[in-house]
Amino acid sequence: MGLADEAKRVAAEFEYSAEDVNKGVKEFIREMDEGLGKTGAMLSQIPTYVTAVPNGTEKGLYMAVDLGGTNFRVCSIQLHGNSTFSLTQSKVAIPRALMSAKTSKELFSFLAKQIENFLKTHHGEHYHSHIRRRLTNSTERGFRDEEIFSLGFTFSFPVNQIGINKGTLIRWTKGFDIHDAIGKDVCEMLQQEIDALHLPVRVAALVNDTVGTLMARSYSSPGKTGTLLGAIFGTGTNGAYVEKLEKVTKLKQIQEETGEEIDESTGEMIINTEWGSFDNDLSVLPNTPYDDDLDKESVNPGIQMFEKRVSGMFLGELLRRAILFLLKKHDCPLFADRDSSENDVHSTTNIADDSGIYKQWGLDTSFLSITHGDRSPGLRITRQTLDKEYGVTAASAEDAEAVQMIASAIGKRAARLSAVAIAAIVIATNKLESPADVATDNDAALGVNEDGIVDIGVDGSLVEFYPDFEDYIREAFRQIPQIGERGEKRIRIGIAKDGSGVGAALIALVADKVV
Ligand code: ADP
Repeated sequence: MGLADEAKRVAAEFEYSAEDVNKGVKEFIREMDEGLGKTGAMLSQIPTYVTAVPNGTEKGLYMAVDLGGTNFRVCSIQLHGNSTFSLTQSKVAIPRALMSAKTSKELFSFLAKQIENFLKTHHGEHYHSHIRRRLTNSTERGFRDEEIFSLGFTFSFPVNQIGINKGTLIRWTKGFDIHDAIGKDVCEMLQQEIDALHLPVRVAALVNDTVGTLMARSYSSPGKTGTLLGAIFGTGTNGAYVEKLEKVTKLKQIQEETGEEIDESTGEMIINTEWGSFDNDLSVLPNTPYDDDLDKESVNPGIQMFEKRVSGMFLGELLRRAILFLLKKHDCPLFADRDSSENDVHSTTNIADDSGIYKQWGLDTSFLSITHGDRSPGLRITRQTLDKEYGVTAASAEDAEAVQMIASAIGKRAARLSAVAIAAIVIATNKLESPADVATDNDAALGVNEDGIVDIGVDGSLVEFYPDFEDYIREAFRQIPQIGERGEKRIRIGIAKDGSGVGAALIALVADKVV
C-alpha cells in the first residue's frame, strides 16, 4: 500500500459515525441519571451547593484566589451589573519547599500573606481603614459584615465538597505533598490564616473551575439568559450544568451523612459531572489500537477514558502513536530519507533521534491545530513545524498530507465526542422541549432565554484554537434526532474566559445570598 492509502486507512479508524454519536448520547444520559442517584457511579455528578447562575445584573466588589499547580493567583473583581467587569490580579509562584512543607499551616499562611499583600497594593484605602477600625473596635473580627470581601477559592485538587464553602482534601496531586492537610477542610485552613492576619476577607465559596466557567459565561452572555452548561476542553475536559434539585436524588443521603443544610429556594443546583470518566468500561466509546496503547501506558489505565479521547493532554499523543505505527510498517515510506539510498528509500528516516515523535507525550496537541488549519501550498506550514519542533527534516508534501489526514481525523472524533456530552445534557434537561415561541419567563432562569436559545459556555485551548471544532460539534448535533436542524440553531456556544477569576467571584456572590 502507498503512503496515502495507509494514512487513509488509519484515519478511517478514527471515524465516529452518526449512529455512534446517538449510541453515545443514550449512554451518557443513562450514566447522568445513575450518577444523580448514587455516589461512586461512573459519572460522579457531584453536587456543588451552588444553587443559582447569574444573569449579568449582579454588582459588587469580590475577591478570588486560585491555587492551581505552580502559581497562586489573587484577584479582585468589580462586577458592573451590565455583564461587564474589571479585574485586578497578581500572581506568585508557589515556592517548591512549601509544596511539601511539614505542616499545611506553612502553605496556607503563605497564601494568606499573598492576600494581604494584594489588599495593601490594590485596595490600600480599604485595607488601612479596616486596620484602623480593627484597632478601635471590640467586635470579634472588628469588621462590619458589609465591609468584608467575600472570596471564591478555586482549589484544583481532589476535594470532597460538603457545603458551598466546605470541602475536605482527598489527596494532593501535581507535586504537592503535605500530609496533615489530607481530610481537612481547605476553606477553613485558609480562613484561619486570613483571620490570623486580621484581614477583612471571608472565604465564601470553594470553587471548581468548570463551575466557574459556567458562572462566568452566565454573567457575560448576551441578554439575560442563564447559561445551561459550562464545559472545558483544555488539558482535561469536564462540564458542569444546572440541574433540577428533585433529580439529584442522592442529595438526601449525602445530607444525612454530613448534616449540612442545603438551600432549596431556587429548586436547582449546579452539578459537576466529572465527565472525563464517562464510559470508563468502554461500552460505547470508540477504541482504536492507539487509544488502547495510550491508556495502557498512562499513569491511570482504565480511568478517564472519555478524557483520553477528547482533551488536549491526549490528542497529540494519539497522533504520535499513529505516526509511530506507520513508521514501523516495513513498506510504508512515511518520513523516508529519500537521499540516503536510491534503492532502499525505507532504510532510514529523516527524523532526529531526540525528536518528540519518539517520546511519550512528545507531540503537542497544538500541532493538530496547526496542521488541520494548514492551507498552504504543499502543506509548507506543516512541514516547517515538523522540522522546527519535531526534528523531521525534509518531510515531503506527501508525508505532510498523510500526517494532516490522521491529525484531522483525531480532532474531528474529539469534537464529535464532545458533542455527545453537550447534547446529552441539553436533551436530559429538556431544554429544547419548549418551542422558541412558547418559552416562558421561568425558562430564563433555567438556561433558555426569550428566543428559546440554549446557552453553553466553553473554555480551553482545544475548543478555542482547533479550527472547525465548533462546526464539527454542530454537525453532530444535527445528526441527533432529538436536536436536529432546528434544535442545533437554538444552541448558542460562546467562549467563557476566566472561570477562576470572575466565575469564582460570582460563586462567592451567590454564596453570600444564601447565608
Ligand atoms: P488548562 O486546561 O491547563 O487550563 P489550556 O486550556 O491552555 O490550559 O489547555 C492546555 C492544553 O491545550 C494542552 O494539552 C495543550 O497541548 C493544548 N493546546 C495548547 N494550544 C493548543 C492549540 N493551539 N490547539 C489545540 N490544543 C492546544
